[in-house]
Order: sequence, then structure tokens, then C-alpha cells
Amino acid sequence: MENKRRDFLRTIVANDLEAGKYEEVVTRFPPEPNGFPHIGHAKSISINFGIAKEFGGRCNLRMDDTNPTTEDTQYVEAIKDAVKWLGFEWDGDVKFTSDYFDKLYRYAIQLIKMGKAYVDSLSEEEMREYRGTVTQPGKRSKYAQRSIEENLELFEKMKNGEFKDGEHVLRAKIDMSAANMKMRDPLLYRIRHAHHFRAGGKWAIYPMYDFAHPLSDYIEGITHSICTLEFENNREIYDWLLDTLDLKPPRPYQHEFARLNINYTVMSKRKLLELVEGGYVNGWDDPRLPTIAGLRRRGYTPESILNFCEQIGVAKANSVVDVAQLEFAIRDDLNTKVPRVMCVQEPLKVTITNYEGSEEIEAPYYPSDVAKEGSRKVPFGKTIYIERSDFEENPPKGYYRLTPTQPVRLKHAYIIQYEEAIRDEEGNIVEIKAKYFPNSKSGNDTSGIKVKSAIQWVEAQNAKRVELRLYDRLFKNEAPQGIEDLNPNSLKVVQNALVEPAVVEERPNERFQFERIGYFYADPIDYNEEHPVFNKIVALKDSWAKKTKPKQPQPKPQPKKVQQIDGEVTPMTKEQEELFVRYTQEHKLGNEVANTLARDEKLSKFYEEALSVSENRSTIANFVTNEVARELKNKAINELRYTPKEIAELAVLVDDETISTKIAKDVFEQMSKSGENPKAIVESRGLMQISDPNVIEPIIEEIIANNPQNVQKFKEGNKKLLGFFIGQTLKATGGKANPKIVNELVAKKLQS
Ligand code: ATP
Ligand code: MG
Repeated sequence: MENKRRDFLRTIVANDLEAGKYEEVVTRFPPEPNGFPHIGHAKSISINFGIAKEFGGRCNLRMDDTNPTTEDTQYVEAIKDAVKWLGFEWDGDVKFTSDYFDKLYRYAIQLIKMGKAYVDSLSEEEMREYRGTVTQPGKRSKYAQRSIEENLELFEKMKNGEFKDGEHVLRAKIDMSAANMKMRDPLLYRIRHAHHFRAGGKWAIYPMYDFAHPLSDYIEGITHSICTLEFENNREIYDWLLDTLDLKPPRPYQHEFARLNINYTVMSKRKLLELVEGGYVNGWDDPRLPTIAGLRRRGYTPESILNFCEQIGVAKANSVVDVAQLEFAIRDDLNTKVPRVMCVQEPLKVTITNYEGSEEIEAPYYPSDVAKEGSRKVPFGKTIYIERSDFEENPPKGYYRLTPTQPVRLKHAYIIQYEEAIRDEEGNIVEIKAKYFPNSKSGNDTSGIKVKSAIQWVEAQNAKRVELRLYDRLFKNEAPQGIEDLNPNSLKVVQNALVEPAVVEERPNERFQFERIGYFYADPIDYNEEHPVFNKIVALKDSWAKKTKPKQPQPKPQPKKVQQIDGEVTPMTKEQEELFVRYTQEHKLGNEVANTLARDEKLSKFYEEALSVSENRSTIANFVTNEVARELKNKAINELRYTPKEIAELAVLVDDETISTKIAKDVFEQMSKSGENPKAIVESRGLMQISDPNVIEPIIEEIIANNPQNVQKFKEGNKKLLGFFIGQTLKATGGKANPKIVNELVAKKLQS
């Protein structure tokens, strides 16, 4: 992750601070409390809170509670829990859009008085008809001619509950023939006779998202209103509203990024609600759900989720991330952190005929990390249990465990050799008799016997019975549509698994690696000493990777065009999937970026061509999936003023730190306008990045000397001024200073 290119949102924030547009960065996370937050929200949380933290600003938590019929306090609590659990702190109290209902109402009156909003009384049907289509302009309602007085009177009556639901609405008067359909006199308020969980019965009208959101941002002093791409067309309303009301600056601006989609899962609250209410899962925190509560109960750590969000990165084009990446993140996090112990899921009794008595074997908890201390005593005796699948009477080729002719090592203990199988009446093996080699003890083995593997086991008298909940992916399809795609084997409960006693008696951790099986977590709700319950977090290896790589050619995915809406994804074609695998595995690109490239032939070709010039894969890929992709939305490839080769050259300039990522954006803009070559632009304008502290320090000192009041305020605890000093320094260097170094130096200088 070294030398990672700063994402486009952070570049915008750095730019704005530098331009002195804001004194401090203020972001917000604005969920609607109508469901439990999911891993997609975690991405938004990590972006909003992460940016505020990095730039010395603050982030609000705002419940966007404008829809009285779907919202509930249990969801508010779940959202707060999720943010806290991920390790973030919101600024001040939790905010609610409903707290601003009075203010919003006054803004609406102001619009009416300006002649910019009117009460419309068309039926829903007529309104739809009047709106026109993408190819045809709409037609304005005759009610738009109502006088200001009439509008004011009607609107007040709407508020007072004098009309029925749907009888009237308040609309902005913008442009019924706008190319952007959202600008065709959007609705601002609708009538809803419903109880609101906070405002009670006070209001009979509720503001629409497009009205409430920008103004709530403004009221809270938000600077960067970061949201997902589906709101791209709403940005025009956002700007229209704030401009029309002519509000005192500074005002917020909206920026969009691609929402997170993950395969084998659904990620819209509506669909999650369906699963919960239909009883397909056990509540919102069911460990199979992608909710934060579910992941948490399953045993995911906050670190693993934040690392995942970091690895997938932030892009401007929608894509689908492989769930294997999330599973990788938790394995990676737990690998060295948690103790390794032995558990037998399906016990097969083994009697060691030549062993008498008992002993305790000292075994380290962290065999893979010698620096980490901790061990336990593992009891050993005449009767033990091994995993049923670790013995095969008729072994297939390549079977390395116990067979009638092949000895095996008991992990941490002795080598045993088969003698006899005991069967029940139906011929099933119920017990193995074996002998052990006294001189084969692990760590002190003089037996000279060769074995091909070591298996886990537990001693019969001391083993503890535990319940295992084995979770697998909730859906069997990569792009599940609904309940018909549920994986019937997503939960398997094993009642009689056995673990070595230390797991329950010492319980050195909540999470364990059960050797050769996977990572497990003591269920935070159902676990108790009499009945220990462990959730399987993830297997040690990705068992789906093999299953999903088809050996025989699979039926071609139907060419049916699936429209991309809310978290639903179109499956990749075979070629796209191959590209995706190559990009993630060979090129080590983030999944989101790889996905965008793989799914878009124009982009992948562009990328590949650039690669033939230089090897700067990740930086090139980032430019292609953000900047180039954005331009290609309204342009053909031959209309671009730059070539793949020049993008490669630009990437080299960034990666060898000749220019900052922020300057790279400017250079790119220039390239796309003038068609000039990046090196020429950098040289002719002297844009080389400054990383030398000896050059930067005097600049910071001067800024500090010139702003004694702000220094004073900072020292008195006003930490938000960090952003001010960083911005001033970047500005003084024309944006050429290396922001990371500026960050460090400013913090250091201000502390001293
Ligand atoms: P859903 O569609 O899953 O119901 P939503 O967009 O309705 O989610 P909100 O509560 O409105 O959920 O979202 C709060 C914030 O989280 C918004 O800024 C939204 O853009 C962001 N967000 C929601 N889903 C995702 C996602 N999958 N990836 C990234 N950000 C997301
Ligand atoms: Mg929503």
C-alpha cells in the first residue's frame, strides 16, 4: 500500500483547503434510520469519518429521518453502535434532519416568496405524464401560475393537515424541459398524515430528500457532502437550491463516489429487511448478513473491515467486489493475532492400545509467531478422538492422513499407526484401534518414521463439548436477485464437536483458529460455560475459489441486460472474469478498480495500452478508472486529447514523486484540454513536487508567525485550525508541496 495514490475525494479536500475555501473540513454520514447499516455503509463511514480525521476536521452523524413510515429508533441505535464499533467518533450530539423541520419550512416559504416554488395539485398520474421523457421535454402544470399569496396559503394549510395525502405537493419551479429529468420542477414537500418517531404528530408535510439534504448540510456547516453515484443527477438540484436561496457562504458541495457492491450478497436495506422479516435469517445481526451487526457477531474485527475498505479504494465507476476479498481481510487480521487450538468437528474414537496412564503436553498458542508468548497444556491419554474424515479405509490417491497402511502424526504429540477398525451392526466404523510410537513425540522424535501430515485430536476424558455454527455464504449465486437464490446450506449446526479443555477453561481470547478448520468466535450472545457456542468466521482457505472455477464450459450467461440498480449486479462474462483475476492477482490492483476495468472493454484496452509504455499499474489503473472513465461517459475514445502513452507518462511522474497527486489532477485537466504532453506541462510551469523539509519548514514558520491568533486558538484546543495551516502551506507552494510531509511538519511545528 506504499506509494498509494491519494484518491480523488482526498484530492478535492486538499485542493479546497489549499484554496482557503474552508477553514476546516466538515463531513457527515447521513443514513436513513430505516434498517441496520451494512458493509456498504462501512465504506461510507470510513470515507467520511476517515477524511475528517486525516485533515483535522470533524464529521457529523446525521439521521436522515424524513420518511415517517419506515423509520425507527432501533435503527438509530444500530447505526450509532456501528460507527462506534468501527472506532469513529461523531462531532457533538447525533443530529437529526427532523430537528431542522422548522428551519426547512421557513426556507420553503422563502422559495415561494421568491416565486421559485409552487403548490401543485395534479394527480400522481398526471404529474408523471407532464414530466415528459428523456427525449421529450415536459409540460408545466397549470397550477404553477398560482399567485405567491395563494401558494403561501395552500402550503400553510398543507402543513396544518387540512388536506389528504397526495392532494397537493410543493414543487420547485425550475425547468420542465431540462435535460436532467430531476430538474423538471422537483417535489420539495409531500403530505403525509403519519406519526414520526421523533416529531410525533406535529407535521402533516414532510420534506423530500432533494430539499432536506442540501439544506441540512448547509445548516450544519458541512463542507464536503460525499454521497454515492446514484445521486449524481441530484447534484444539480443541490446546487440550484443553495444558489437560489442565496445563502451566506461558505456552502457545501456534493461529491459522488461508487457504492460498494459485493458478489454473493445483497446490499440494500429493503432486501435485507425482507430476509429479516421473512425469517430467512435470525434477525439483523444474523452472522450471514452483510450488516455490520452481523459481521460483528460472526467475529469480524473492526480492523479487518477498515482494512477491507482501504484495500478496495474509492472510485468513480460502479463495480462489484469479490466477497473473497472481505474474507481475505479477516483471515489476514486474525492470522497472527489469535491462538491456535484443536477442535474435532465429527469425532471418531481412537483407542491407543499400547498407551497407559496420561500426560500433559505443553503446546504454544501462537506457533506461527515466536515473539508472541502463551501456551497451554494439552491432555493426552489412551482414548482420543480424531476427525472422522482424517481416516480413510480406501484412500484416494494423494490422501496423506491415517489409513490402514499409512501412519499419521497427532499434532503436538505422537505418531500413531492403525491396527484395527471396530464396526457397528451396519458395518459403520465406530472406533479405530491403533498403536503409538513412544519415541516419536513432537519436538523429540527419534523414531525415524516418516508421516505425510499431522492431524488434530482431543483427549476423550478432558475434551469439552461445544456447539459450532458453521456459516457459509448466504446466497449461492454471484449476483443474487432474491430469496430464490438463497444457499440452503448457509448454516450448519454441529452440536457435538469437541475442543481441548483450555479453549473453554482458559479462554485466552474470544477468537481462535481451530487448526485445519478455520477461525471461530465465541458467540457474544449464546455462549456460556455450560453450553459453549462458536461461530465460524471464515475457513482457512477460500473453498469457493475452486468451486466457482468451472472445469467444463458453463452455459453462457444469458445476454439478458440487467439494469444496474441499488446493489444488484450483472454477472461477469467469462472473459471479464479472466481479466478480473489477472488484474487482481498479477497486477495487484484493488478489486473495485480491477472490476471497473474488467467490465469495460474501452477502459481495459486503454489501460493495457498504457502498460506497454510503463509498468506503473496501480497509478495508471487509478487514472483510467477515475479520470478517463469520467471523460468517456460523454466522449468517444478518439475524441480524447491524450493517449494511453501520455497517461502512462503522467503515472510515472506521480510514482517517482516528481509531482504530487493533486498537481497530477491539474496536469491531467490541462492534457485533456490542450492535448499537451504531461512532461511538457510540468516543465513549462515548474510543477515539480516539493518534499524537502528544508524548503517546506521555513514556509510553515512564516505562516505560523503571520497568524499568531490562530496559533493561540490552536494551542487552546481548537484543533480544527490544523486544516487551516495545512491549507495555507499547500497554497504558499502553489499546491506543489507533498501533502503528507506538510501534514507531519505542520503538526510538529504547532505542537512545539
Ligand atoms: P440502501 O440502498 O442499502 O438501502 P441507502 O443508500 O438507502 O442504502 P442510506 O441510509 O441512505 O442508505 O445511506 C447512508 C449513506 O451511506 C449515504 O451517503 C449512502 O450514499 C451511503 N451508502 C449506502 N449504501 C452504500 C454502499 N453500498 N456503498 C457505499 N456507500 C453507501
Ligand atoms: Mg436511501
